[in-house]
Amino acid sequence: MNRAARRSLGGAPGAYRDFDATELFCPRCRRAVPVRKRLLLVLPEGDKYEYLCAFCSASVGTKVSRGGPPLRLIV
Ligand SMILES: [Zn+2]
Repeated sequence: MNRAARRSLGGAPGAYRDFDATELFCPRCRRAVPVRKRLLLVLPEGDKYEYLCAFCSASVGTKVSRGGPPLRLIV
């Protein structure tokens, strides 16, 4: 049994600032699958990533990663 993996699942949702989903449900494979992360867009509020099924490359979800502190606007 992998203790570290179990512990990482125990936290409350949103507790991790840069939480990465490692397995998502794929509608094509009809099961939870490991995913690959692909950068889709760079937005003012963060980088938008798409998650692709590792087996069939179907898109299984997107996420906006809010990296650092907000950018300072020079007025
Ligand atoms: Zn799939």
